[in-house]
Amino acid sequence: MFDCHIHTNFSTDSSMNIEEVIKASRNNNIGAIITDHLDINYMIPGKFIFNVDDYFKKYSSYRNEKLLLGIEMGMRPDCIEENREISKKYNFDFILGSVHVVESNGSYYDIYGNDFYEGKNKKEVYEAYLKCMLQCVREHDYIDSLSHIDYICRYAPYSDSNIYYDEYNELIDEILKELILREKAIEINTRRFEDKKAVAILKKIYKRFNELGGKIVTIGSDAHRSENVGNNIHIAKEFAEECGLKAVYFKERKPIVLE
Ligand SMILES: [Zn+2]
Ligand SMILES: [Zn+2]
Repeated sequence: MFDCHIHTNFSTDSSMNIEEVIKASRNNNIGAIITDHLDINYMIPGKFIFNVDDYFKKYSSYRNEKLLLGIEMGMRPDCIEENREISKKYNFDFILGSVHVVESNGSYYDIYGNDFYEGKNKKEVYEAYLKCMLQCVREHDYIDSLSHIDYICRYAPYSDSNIYYDEYNELIDEILKELILREKAIEINTRRFEDKKAVAILKKIYKRFNELGGKIVTIGSDAHRSENVGNNIHIAKEFAEECGLKAVYFKERKPIVLE
């Protein structure tokens, strides 16, 4: 098994070092892909970006069959070419594409913060989020896998923050079709996998991905600390199989099916 979404201290919000990742992945008998955050044009200058030269200088000697080097790139409409250039310039194993920031009425909002939700109801917020994601998967075609489609559910201030497929089926279908058209994977992010209800609700989206012709998923814990490396990834593999999808990891930008 492989955990395809792990943050180390090149990410603004993680202090994990690579030795801790290696130790945790050995203890769990899994492979690991480091995917530090690069959110170009983030609203606070210097946050959620890192020097990619330094990343490869520091980590290349650790690279092996079980420890691969990727990146989590923040997708937004104003950094497509910059991201694409970086994707070409460095020999990543894997590129995750994420929506962490949403453009709404000409301004950019962090989904993690409160401002984005003010003065809008859940439907307006979730439609803006999914519309932004749709635009991003169309334009940021250098990615290998779309990360955490349910990212907003972690932070949205509603008593029920789940994304119900039936409520947003048109937008979700468009997103899934764009991924399928480009032969991209979608990620099963296990951060919310402790919540059985959330997992059941998410399943409809992944089953739909399969119905529309989607084939592959990547699985990632999104660990920022060593104790979370590999969290629930085996359960996520079963989840993938139940949805008719194959779990893969990426090496040198190519998908490899996990047995
Ligand atoms: Zn993310
Ligand atoms: Zn992440």
